Amino acid sequence: MNRNDYSGIIEKLKPSGVQLLAVSKTKSVEEIQALYDLGQRDFGENYVQELLEKQAQLPTDIRWHFIGHLQTNKVKFLVPFIYMIQSVDSLKLLLEIDKHASKNQRIVRCLLQIFIAREESKFGLDETELDLLLLTVNRNRQEGRFSHSQISGCMGMASMTENKTQIREEFVRLRMIFEKIKMSFPSDPVDTLSMGMSSDYPIAIEEGSTMVRLGTLIFGER
Ligand SMILES: *Cc1c(COP(=O)(O)O)cnc(C)c1O
Repeated sequence: MNRNDYSGIIEKLKPSGVQLLAVSKTKSVEEIQALYDLGQRDFGENYVQELLEKQAQLPTDIRWHFIGHLQTNKVKFLVPFIYMIQSVDSLKLLLEIDKHASKNQRIVRCLLQIFIAREESKFGLDETELDLLLLTVNRNRQEGRFSHSQISGCMGMASMTENKTQIREEFVRLRMIFEKIKMSFPSDPVDTLSMGMSSDYPIAIEEGSTMVRLGTLIFGER
């Protein structure tokens, strides 16, 4: 991690008010602590076991974001402390988060992970699944359910491609989906559009991102 690189990124993000999520997967607690000492508080992790080990050793005011694929049987380990789960890709997972959040008397912020890439390998909801999920959550909310999970917005990953036009199109779509989620929950704070990684974050900011997830750019190659 390079102090000047970090300061440079912070300066770059300032005018737009875009939040920085430091993606620390595979990085050591020492490296995370060093960034914390520079003022960074939001960190993203992809693996439950790795996150639990790090969380136990690092300051308690870190806001941990889970950004990897999450199995329902692991939810109970994260809910007691997690700040935000950005990778909610099914109703079943949301139900499980809500159940454990209720047990822990917490409200857990969630982002719906949307499939926007033209690749086979990425997780996320497609638009049909999204519409069904929004409808179901809204109906259940009226009956007092889903009261311990909050849908704060959405997250997505663009295709791994050099084609900037394609990446931009994918981000534009995610932005439109974000607006749709906002309209679905008019009385909720739907405020987070998590899009943009080290290779494509400038385009993401131009297209309305409110949070970029940067790993390589901050911590170096994994
Ligand atoms: C690893 C990861 C990132 C960060 O990727 P970089 O290219 O290193 O910036 C962002 N988002 C998700 C979901 C990731 O898994």
